[in-house]
Amino acid sequence: MDYGGNMIRLYVTEPELSAGRVFALDDGQSRYLTTVMRLHVNDEVAVFNGRDGEWLARIHEAGKKGVRLEAVRQLRPQSGGQGPVLVVSMVKRTALEYMVEKATELGVSAIHLVITHRSSGSNTNVERLISIAREAAEQTERLDIPAIIPPVKFADWLATSNLETIIFGDEESTHEGEEKATLPLLHSLQKLHANASNAAASVAVLIGPEGGFDDEERQMLHGNSKVCPVNLGPRILRADTAAISALTLVQAVLGDWR
Ligand code: SAH
Repeated sequence: MDYGGNMIRLYVTEPELSAGRVFALDDGQSRYLTTVMRLHVNDEVAVFNGRDGEWLARIHEAGKKGVRLEAVRQLRPQSGGQGPVLVVSMVKRTALEYMVEKATELGVSAIHLVITHRSSGSNTNVERLISIAREAAEQTERLDIPAIIPPVKFADWLATSNLETIIFGDEESTHEGEEKATLPLLHSLQKLHANASNAAASVAVLIGPEGGFDDEERQMLHGNSKVCPVNLGPRILRADTAAISALTLVQAVLGDWR
């Protein structure tokens, strides 16, 4: 039987999925299945918990106390975790939420939030970003949820990061005639590709806030040997466009679009 695209897929927090296991859904998911999708006992959905792959599950009970599912059999083994990391400066809520959704679709393994001098705000509802990432994962049929790392100060993040290669979108070096002109992103990725150990999983894409990085931050970046400044063309992109287009190229050259 084909359990393809039109089956409802839910991310569940149940820590272990195995045949015959019965577990409860949260209120929102219970309501979604019964009130919105009008499913009943014995109807089937697909579930994943980020560890045990994708499972066919059957509605075991649907009552006032919510829905309980029974895991029936595994549909797909666990996969994922091999994508690049996105490091993004705090920006306006809509742009941030958009980036989380799109970066999840594009297969990032984690999203780190950093507070830069020109960040708009340092507060964000991380829970909400996690639920956006969950929904995007459900939609896009990935079997894991990217980790969302709550905001830390940029300098602290840079000092403690153990990422191998940080690709830094540096819009200030793109102008013609600029002395310290940086490589176009594609060229940098091709260089990394020539070095066989570099796959998407060891690469982070770092994008600044709408006002860009300030001089002090740019100095820190240019002085760090793990940082590879790149340009994304002659136009200044908004942070969300820069993040999504850079991740696309990383996946195409080093990642799972190959
Ligand atoms: N300094 C700018 C805008 C920053 S754009 C200003 O206020 O005019 C937001 C972020 O997107 C930047 O920090 C950078 O990381 C990335 N970005 C945008 N356009 C880019 C380009 N052409 N090349 C490299 N990075 C770019």
